[in-house]
Amino acid sequence: MKLRLGHLYPEFLNLYGDRGNILILCRRAEWRGIDVEVTTISLGDPLDPGDFDLLFLGGGPDQEQGVASSDLFAKGPALKEAVAGGTALLAICGGYQLLGEYYRTANGKTLPGVGLFAAYTEAGKKRLKGNIAIQVAELGTEHPVIGFENHGGRTFLQGARPLGRVIYGDGNNGSDGTEGARYKNAIGTYLHGPLLSKNPHLADYLLRLALQRRYGEVELPPLEDSLELATNAAVYQRFLSTKGKW
Ligand code: GLN
Repeated sequence: MKLRLGHLYPEFLNLYGDRGNILILCRRAEWRGIDVEVTTISLGDPLDPGDFDLLFLGGGPDQEQGVASSDLFAKGPALKEAVAGGTALLAICGGYQLLGEYYRTANGKTLPGVGLFAAYTEAGKKRLKGNIAIQVAELGTEHPVIGFENHGGRTFLQGARPLGRVIYGDGNNGSDGTEGARYKNAIGTYLHGPLLSKNPHLADYLLRLALQRRYGEVELPPLEDSLELATNAAVYQRFLSTKGKW
């Protein structure tokens, strides 16, 4: 088996160790004897919808989002076709915002979005930042998904399914308890971290989604994750012992 990962705009969209998510996916696949190929896709590079099992976009400041946004917009039809065909996708924060309908930045500039998620984002007055924990029902475990968020944009879902419910932190907009968005095998989220090192259950869920397109249902042999899961639980308890926001 081989996993083909496409990493979009790593030189512009890579905040708080977002690239670590690619490293985690590679390592967890390789530990199961699955070969991995990572391709960088940047400004002007072609995006063939059939080429990738998983696409990844990190987050970035407004200015870098501005640099990537028109190129991403041009790649929008191919990206939507890939997701329609079963490609998995993980987009963090600034990348997630650009996959909605639009992002209006703190300067009042409107960056057009790809429209993969039925959602829009507008900058608010205060940044939403700090630790965050969410519950993601599809993971089928009581372990929360934990991370760190720092965004000025507030995302409002317009029919898109949220990725999860906020247990602690702000999530999409700090007001409706939703976090992230989900469409087919595509996930958008505000959780930096890197997200997947702190959440091996989510990492394997994404690996299974990614492999499914070409290999059908894949059973991944379990890995020794007791340390990661104990860390997840300890950090979560630490969040809760401080004043919860939800
Ligand atoms: N620039 C965007 C915002 O402030 C995204 C930030 C990020 O990716 N962390 O909302």
